[in-house]
Amino acid sequence: MSKTGLCGPYRLTFEAIDCAVTRVSAGVYALGHTALDGRFYVNHVGRADNDLRRKLRDHIGSANMFKYEYLPTSKQAFERECVLFHDINPPGNRVHPDRPRGTTWTCPRCQIFAQSGQAAR
Ligand SMILES: [Zn+2]
Repeated sequence: MSKTGLCGPYRLTFEAIDCAVTRVSAGVYALGHTALDGRFYVNHVGRADNDLRRKLRDHIGSANMFKYEYLPTSKQAFERECVLFHDINPPGNRVHPDRPRGTTWTCPRCQIFAQSGQAAR
């Protein structure tokens, strides 16, 4: 049913986050709400480079529900975030996901980093 492929949705509360996200890991998340028809609507996607649970806690109050996925590395989390951004085009993401400072990683879906990648240090 979900096209995101993420786990959830769960309520965006301390209790539900602690219950669902038990590992300290990089990962991606989607914030949104579940409508009366039972579908999960994504408002915003993001990633955590090392601690998904802590990142989700920062968003408590900004949405009702969340979904998530662990990724083994921050590079994979970045690439997954880019794919989610392009696939879903969430209304809460006004700009393309940024890559971590100091990396030359590129988006798997577009050329946004092609020039800045060469200009960076
Ligand atoms: Zn892109």
